[in-house]
Amino acid sequence: MIEFLPLKKITEKYASEIHEAVSKVVDSGWYLQGVEVEAFEREFAQYVGVRHCVGCGNGLDALTLIIRAFKIMGILQEGDEVIVPANTYIASILSVTENGLVPVLVEPDENTLEINPSLIEERITQRTKAIMIVHLYGRNAYSPKIGELCAKYNLKLIEDCAQSHGLEAKGSTPYYIYKAFSFYPTKNLGALGDAGAVVTDDAELAKIVRALGNYGSGTKYVFDYQGKNSRLDELQAAILRVKLRHLDDANRHRKEIADYYYKNICNPKVRLPQYTDENVYHIFPVLCEKRDELQAYLKEQGIQTLIHYPIPPHRQKCWQGTVMEQYINAKLNLPLTDRIAQQELSLPISQVITMDEAKCVVEKINVFSD
Ligand SMILES: *Cc1c(COP(=O)(O)O)cnc(C)c1O
Repeated sequence: MIEFLPLKKITEKYASEIHEAVSKVVDSGWYLQGVEVEAFEREFAQYVGVRHCVGCGNGLDALTLIIRAFKIMGILQEGDEVIVPANTYIASILSVTENGLVPVLVEPDENTLEINPSLIEERITQRTKAIMIVHLYGRNAYSPKIGELCAKYNLKLIEDCAQSHGLEAKGSTPYYIYKAFSFYPTKNLGALGDAGAVVTDDAELAKIVRALGNYGSGTKYVFDYQGKNSRLDELQAAILRVKLRHLDDANRHRKEIADYYYKNICNPKVRLPQYTDENVYHIFPVLCEKRDELQAYLKEQGIQTLIHYPIPPHRQKCWQGTVMEQYINAKLNLPLTDRIAQQELSLPISQVITMDEAKCVVEKINVFSD
């Protein structure tokens, strides 16, 4: 069987280095706020090319803490609006609502599946204070047009980088840098548990985020904010340091597989998003009107696929009884987001899938007919 993402195999690829790193932490007797976290923060900031990295508990916390810090800095207030892509994982939107801000969902571009920059300006109001872009599937969602809007309306740009580790290396540099990363095990850079980080050039925000993740404390036993406990631990940091060293190689392999898919998938029923060089291929999405049939057929052929995501955020029950319910369900018509949820299928891609397996995936897709 061709697994969608064989995590066990991925960990095995780095097993000896991981075991060594883990043993070192276990034997050290120091498990939080130690040398591994400090080293990872320094190495990851350098990798991204930004001054500050603050480790935290997970990707949702990274996003949430950026917005919390902006509130403390007086830049965002409850009730302010944040532009977010409608086609995203729900965590992007939860970070906005959790902070009492209002998400304004914008449809994607049909060809890129990323937020459509030309639909943003018409949604900007007096209350709009930020744009959150999500580099969904590993594609660069930033465009100069978004930078221009941020400058014109004095908006903060927040980047959800949970699916785009390594994308920075390709020169997509927005003017403002507030990046939230998740190191959930399946991500391009994945821990063996939950982990996340905020990466920014803004020293003040970095300091506040660090305090917020540590009960609101910058100095021991002094609490400046009502914070929470969201810290990166030494074990995960040590594991991430190992995997960071291999990230570029892993992304190169993903790209080889993706290039093969782009060159060879040829079936009028299966559509690929527009090709772009600025892509670390966290997910390889295809669109098919008979998506469920395609998925069932591939499963019969021994090929495992997933859907990202079958129910879009605005169709979720979780908003019931909140101010969001009326806002999200009644006022918004998001046909393209709905269509993507019905047609998207994610093909196997990772640093361990072989070219022979990719060939098999292509062969089966090319003879699919419903
Ligand atoms: C995974 C993911 C998150 C959340 O990360 P966690 O570490 O699971 O909290 C946020 N946004 C996107 C786009 C993601 O894919």
